[in-house]
Amino acid sequence: MTCKEAERLVMPYINDELTDEELSKFLEHMESCPDCREELEIYFTVDVGIRQLDSETGNYNIKGALEATIEQSRQRLQVIQCIKIARYAVATISVMALFLTVLLQCRIWLQWGLL
Ligand SMILES: [Zn+2]
Repeated sequence: MTCKEAERLVMPYINDELTDEELSKFLEHMESCPDCREELEIYFTVDVGIRQLDSETGNYNIKGALEATIEQSRQRLQVIQCIKIARYAVATISVMALFLTVLLQCRIWLQWGLL
């Protein structure tokens, strides 16, 4: 992902509108690019600041809030990754079970002299 693409996704990220794939690439870029990370912090600070004005919650740890948000995003991606792996495992086992069934059936037919 380029800085320009990352920049474009900052607001959608804050509004939680990214797809999983975008989110993954976005977080990756934020970890490797201090410039975009700074940009994100600025936008995030403004966004939280506005919300704070709305709700008057008083003292708010903005930097901590951003860290927490990023951590949540990472956890979401991890869960998705786990589900993908589980699906893949189930699919693999299903194919193997099917293959085994056919193999055993063929053996039975062979024993009966039907093949
Ligand atoms: Zn960048």
